[in-house]
Amino acid sequence: MPLIEFTDKGLCCPQGQFYIDPWKPVPKAIITHAHSDHARGGHQYYLCHHDTKPLLQLRLGDNSYESIGWNANRVLNGVQVSLHPAGHMIGSSQIRVEYKGEVWVVSGDYKTEDDGISSAFEPVQCNTFITESTFGLPIYNWKPQSEIYQNIKDWIIQNCEEEKTSVLIAYSLGKAQRLLQPLAETGKKIFLHGAVWNAHQALVKAGWQLPEVERVWQDAPKEIYRGQVVIAPSSAESSTWIKRFSPYAIGICSGWMQVRGNVRRKNADAGFVLSDHADWNGLLQTVKATGAQKVFVTHGFQSAFSRYLNETGIESAEVKTEFGAEEDNEAIDQV
Ligand SMILES: [Zn+2]
Ligand SMILES: [Zn+2]
Repeated sequence: MPLIEFTDKGLCCPQGQFYIDPWKPVPKAIITHAHSDHARGGHQYYLCHHDTKPLLQLRLGDNSYESIGWNANRVLNGVQVSLHPAGHMIGSSQIRVEYKGEVWVVSGDYKTEDDGISSAFEPVQCNTFITESTFGLPIYNWKPQSEIYQNIKDWIIQNCEEEKTSVLIAYSLGKAQRLLQPLAETGKKIFLHGAVWNAHQALVKAGWQLPEVERVWQDAPKEIYRGQVVIAPSSAESSTWIKRFSPYAIGICSGWMQVRGNVRRKNADAGFVLSDHADWNGLLQTVKATGAQKVFVTHGFQSAFSRYLNETGIESAEVKTEFGAEEDNEAIDQV
């Protein structure tokens, strides 16, 4: 019996009697991170990282949650479970599962570059690695975030000179918080869409010290936004909500902006290639760093990435899951 099986309810550890990020209700769920395709409602018990818990409470309400820190061990029916930083968003964890000397690691979503707010990614040695592949094609090749941040700041300053509001479209959980520090460095006021605000408040309540922000209010005078910065989820982009900022410029922060044409297709004024997922090289380096003899590839470009691994001598197979290509469908993350 494999340590982790792929079932119609999700990734299951039969020996430990638990699931990881299951998409159907189960008695025991271990959750990698708070994005809605990984953290679903209806489970009887949730185990997650301390930083994930307030976000699960915000999204799923009261449940039986247990949280632990990095590297702390929990034994579930003889199976040793521990959480390790995935660098994808606040609290995001890789799940390490060990039984009788055999080790499997489930990556959840991950990014290898340290964003300063999610704990920095650490590769974990294992026999079998289950990796995401959201950007698992060689065309996805990120520039250093410092360069992207500078581009965003320059764009904001230019918009301000033209008396336009800079509306940045970013995932409300993860990307939005990551952007706050570089945005604060522009000295502009930062206004948050309600969905981003809710996530922000949950984190502040949990003790996070984040740069100062204000909520976009229904009847605030239009002038207060002039030349300032707004962070909103992608659902806001095509809504009447955004009209209040007129004149404004829209900048989309997403890994998908790497593909030319997506900026135009989305009707944006600027696209910033800023992702919370590993790029092609990040995925490859991680797979190698785990030392895994067997790699299962989930959500993303799983067939291309697993084919490449097989060609380079790393035994790999693709697995179908119900996790989403979240940077493409941010509407699912309206909290
Ligand atoms: Zn995610
Ligand atoms: Zn995912």
